[in-house]
Amino acid sequence: MKIWLDGGLQDTESARVSVFDHGLTVGDGIFETVKAVDGRPFALTRHLDRLTRSARGLGLPDPDHDEVRRACAAVLEANPMPLGRLRITYTGGHGPLGSDRGEHGPTLVVALGETTRRPDSTAVITVPWTRNERGALTGLKTTSYAENVVALARAREQGASEALFGNTVGLLCEGTGSNVFVVLDGEIHTPPLASGCLAGITRALAIEWTGAEETDLPLDVLERADEIFLTSTLRDVQAVHRVDDRELPGAPGPVTAKAMRVFEERSGDDLDP
Ligand code: PLP
Repeated sequence: MKIWLDGGLQDTESARVSVFDHGLTVGDGIFETVKAVDGRPFALTRHLDRLTRSARGLGLPDPDHDEVRRACAAVLEANPMPLGRLRITYTGGHGPLGSDRGEHGPTLVVALGETTRRPDSTAVITVPWTRNERGALTGLKTTSYAENVVALARAREQGASEALFGNTVGLLCEGTGSNVFVVLDGEIHTPPLASGCLAGITRALAIEWTGAEETDLPLDVLERADEIFLTSTLRDVQAVHRVDDRELPGAPGPVTAKAMRVFEERSGDDLDP
């Protein structure tokens, strides 16, 4: 496998970043996961725009979009696969021990892993921990993912593939790596960005393509929603057939199934040439 590091392709086994890289020592970094279908990245422009927003939120220099595009193309060409997940990581670079940034510029790594299509439906749990809708990192796709790692491990223990968070005022927010949608009386709703959720790229496409409304939703909406689905780069649109102890038989229900179809039909539009 080849990855991109320090401006060129390197062997994954021998590529090295500093042990003082602040992405490692203090989680000072941002990332994107981009789906690649037959070697073509999906919605790369949107991912690059979000990468820049995250960089600005952390006070990192703007990433060079041309370099990131070149890196993605080179990594995809070097590692052909039918369905891949590109991982773009951009950190504060190596610096002193402690939180002050050093003089060195950022580190950019682009790696690729093989992935598979997710099942049409899945089980989720809710967790008692909250997303902070007003934090310094809210809405930024940072590498500080430990809270998600803990929540996902709890989901796995309970036979689920995702854990959903509420925010500090008891509203539904998002999953560890996905956005959440509910269907109420035939209408699709999803929490607004003010809930503290990430501006998911799949979420934005699902809103555009299905007309879903952004609505403040109490966490207990999960106990009464007619249908629930998740969106993310690697899940696309995925129905929920169980949330905690509540079964949703027949998932995907009709509204979710339609959203899945629309997504399938239209997602070719967003493949980069
Ligand atoms: N929310 C969080 C916390 C995420 O990490 C992700 C993706 O990894 C998403 C939502 C979904 O975003 P996207 O559709 O851009 O993959």
